[in-house]
Amino acid sequence: MTAVLCPICKRPAEPKFRPFCSKRCADVDLARWFTGAYAIPGAPVDEDEDVPPAEEEPAMHFALLAKIAARNGLAKLSMGMSGDFETAIRFGATSVRVGQALFGARAKL
Ligand SMILES: [Zn+2]
Repeated sequence: MTAVLCPICKRPAEPKFRPFCSKRCADVDLARWFTGAYAIPGAPVDEDEDVPPAEEEPAMHFALLAKIAARNGLAKLSMGMSGDFETAIRFGATSVRVGQALFGARAKL
């Protein structure tokens, strides 16, 4: 069996801090997670692709999502935004995104 090396400093890992060698290196790793240093850039997000069409009543979309979530045994259901979160909650949303209600509209780029 090969020795596990600390992913931060490459010294041998200590069982107490595995896979790290020390609390310091474990903390360095945690800090990298918190600061987003490990983030993998993804495709640009199309902000309109995961929200109901503006010209349609969101309730039917929320109802469908709730049905799909229930069918798949999901305990959590994130849907609804500042403009329609009350409807989303009525249809079972457990998380809503209300950034605009809290912070105002984002500046257009
Ligand atoms: Zn280390």
